[in-house]
Amino acid sequence: MRVVVVGAGVYGAAVGAALARGGATVTVVDAGAPGSGTSGATFSWVNSRNKQPQVYHEFNVAGMAAHQRFAAEAPLSDWYHGGGGIEWAADDAALRGKVDALIARGYEATWLTRAEALELEPGIDPERLPADGIAYFPDEAWIEPMRLIAHLLSRDVDVVADDAVVGLDTSGDMVRAVRLESGRRLDADAVVNCAGPQAAKVAAMAGLALPMRNLPCVLVYTSPVAVPVSRVVHAPNVHLRPEGDGRILLHSSEVDQGGQEAVDKLMRDATSFYPGIRAATVESVRTGERPIPGDGLPVLGRVADVRNYVFAVSHSGVTLCLHAGELVADEVLGEDRDEALAAFRFERFEEL
Ligand SMILES: Cc1cc2nc3c(=O)[nH]c(=O)nc-3n(C[C@H](O)[C@H](O)[C@H](O)COP(=O)(O)OP(=O)(O)OC[C@H]3O[C@@H](n4cnc5c(N)ncnc54)[C@H](O)[C@@H]3O)c2cc1C
Repeated sequence: MRVVVVGAGVYGAAVGAALARGGATVTVVDAGAPGSGTSGATFSWVNSRNKQPQVYHEFNVAGMAAHQRFAAEAPLSDWYHGGGGIEWAADDAALRGKVDALIARGYEATWLTRAEALELEPGIDPERLPADGIAYFPDEAWIEPMRLIAHLLSRDVDVVADDAVVGLDTSGDMVRAVRLESGRRLDADAVVNCAGPQAAKVAAMAGLALPMRNLPCVLVYTSPVAVPVSRVVHAPNVHLRPEGDGRILLHSSEVDQGGQEAVDKLMRDATSFYPGIRAATVESVRTGERPIPGDGLPVLGRVADVRNYVFAVSHSGVTLCLHAGELVADEVLGEDRDEALAAFRFERFEEL
């Protein structure tokens, strides 16, 4: 079976690798380089901390487990960083309510005292931590998407880079071939749309109207600095995690609005919690575009009207890619995964 996967982000790589494992002949096509889309500018926190409704929460929890399993099985899983996540908040009652609700859902979470939090994150200024009520989520992780993508695409997958998909040849209710900007034409028994923020355009090539409400978001990368940040940390007004070779990745909802002032404030806030960050400078500021389907939920699996056209599009794609990628690949290969994917079908938009 010849499958063309459009997009070489975390989704395209995960779907492509799962298809190859299933015996398909896979070509992953990207308009740029693998990982050059959203997957190259993401916070890449593997979690299910704020996901609604329940079916989406459970899907993200399954995504977390899939990462843990895959990293344990891979010979050198240098992209996966466990260690959990910690959070404390200015509004203690709101955090308690959120964590209690997560625990009631069966999500792994405990409370730390200041001393326990400092064992995990000794770089934090103790005076900036509450005496207790610091939430710890031991099963959470963060990953290096580029390394995961490289690993997934390294075996049994043909990658075509720097060549955009510009059209599809169809006959009846089937796609027969994929046309590339270079003039190449790839025969296809199935096509998977993993185009992230560009998914609506690629859907339109098959006559499908996919509503998307993408959101640009800003990430701040510091210069390398000798500060022990070892996991995903959510402090009031600043989220951070390690970013390789001593760099720290910073985000806040304020910085998404853009502007140098917001970047400066984010650095000040981060420094107020981790004084050692004072020695760092802003190395780069990058904008990533969150691919968000119209109702916020993933769009996954086969499509009724175009029988060999398949979607793998969502926000939280870093968390979901391995779990969802496996299910999507199963459907491409002829299995039915309705028990897992029913809530995420494309057809729900047609019913509106
Ligand atoms: C700031 C930010 C923070 C985030 N934080 C998290 C987080 O903490 N945890 C989490 O799980 N998720 C997070 N996300 C979301 C997550 O990063 C995305 O859901 C995920 O990266 C999407 O991957 P993708 O493979 O679908 O898309 P992409 O990585 O964008 O890949 C799509 C690829 O398709 C290619 N393409 C597009 N059109 C065509 C075409 N016509 N022909 C050929 N190729 C084409 C593009 O070049 C691109 O490489 C965040 C996103 C942002 C922006």
